Amino acid sequence: MSTPTSFPFPVPEFGVEPYWEACNREELVMQRCSGCGRFRWLPAPICSECGSNEASWEPLAGRGRITTWTVVTHPVHPAAVDRVPYVVAEVELEEQPGLRMIAGLVGIEPDAVAMDLAVAVEFETHPSGQKLPMFRPEA
Ligand SMILES: [Zn+2]
Repeated sequence: MSTPTSFPFPVPEFGVEPYWEACNREELVMQRCSGCGRFRWLPAPICSECGSNEASWEPLAGRGRITTWTVVTHPVHPAAVDRVPYVVAEVELEEQPGLRMIAGLVGIEPDAVAMDLAVAVEFETHPSGQKLPMFRPEA
């Protein structure tokens, strides 16, 4: 249970526990369709490409490029008061064109963020103990 000063995060629901368990091992995984081999994000029970309901959770390299981002300047949650401004980015992962996820971006000033910036995943421990994926610019 989060405290009032902890950032909220999605509560793992039925079917996506492997994703959160992998985060705790500091691995980024996504569902990969057993029918057509495509990765998909967000997790879903059926592939939108081929209709298969068979999938496995497969590891990704955790590297990608920024496709868009926003700078949060207004703390809409008490936990954000000391954190703003911070960046939330959409990252296209290198495994597949169009495979994009949204996460926090760390290690860069908001004004320095740019399209196509190469980033790599890392994991930040939430006060609850759950590790959360974040991206950081590659050196
Ligand atoms: Zn498929």
